[in-house]
Amino acid sequence: MVTSTTSQDASSKSQIFAFSDIISVFVGQNKLEYRLHEAILTTKSPFFEKCLCSGMKEQQEKKVYLPDVNPSEFDIMIMWMYTEKVNPGRDNALITGVYLLADRFCMPDLQNGLVDAFRANYNTYLINPMTVKNIWRLTPEGCKLREAALDLMFNRLCQNPSQYRTASVGKSATTPQKPESEFAIEFAIEFEKLLQENGPLPSALFWKRHDHNPPTAYSLPPDPSSMSGCVYHVHANGKKCK
Ligand SMILES: [Zn+2]
Repeated sequence: MVTSTTSQDASSKSQIFAFSDIISVFVGQNKLEYRLHEAILTTKSPFFEKCLCSGMKEQQEKKVYLPDVNPSEFDIMIMWMYTEKVNPGRDNALITGVYLLADRFCMPDLQNGLVDAFRANYNTYLINPMTVKNIWRLTPEGCKLREAALDLMFNRLCQNPSQYRTASVGKSATTPQKPESEFAIEFAIEFEKLLQENGPLPSALFWKRHDHNPPTAYSLPPDPSSMSGCVYHVHANGKKCK
């Protein structure tokens, strides 16, 4: 029987599910059990590859315990492993949690998908300073998600400073924002609180403002939500994906 290379490839890909062992992964304090294909886990995550291919107890028992992982975050990570799609919605705490999980499980492609989703969520929208503050609280220095959040905050401040000033909210927006923000006063209050802190975020905003000093005419800083291509990504050896 002659089989084309293409159909052989398709066949071998589908057989990954037919011949793979099933691993029980117990997630969270309540040990929620996920029964997952070993071949998927080990090809998508170097963490699982190490766990399941190096003669460790997990490999022999076909069981992995992750008591400190949040099942809601794990769901998104597993969806990515099986479909290479990520749809975390607008829940920034969830996005940040999955981003950190992807870092822990050595999955930079998922981190990049999440930071793209985060940026796209803010297309023309104001960002709540509290959101940026929480991302900064949870992520380490050098994290690309925190960098994107800072740049987004800085762009919105420069584009619409009145929307972050309690005395002027609603009086002089220079650019219409969607949605017409009933939350704007909350954003202004949160921003004032942020400025009164001695944390790294207000300091980073101050220095961004200082460094944003165009030699000629004033221009707005780049808007992360409208950038395309390989931006705020993590890649080995500084390579670009697009
Ligand atoms: Zn990239």
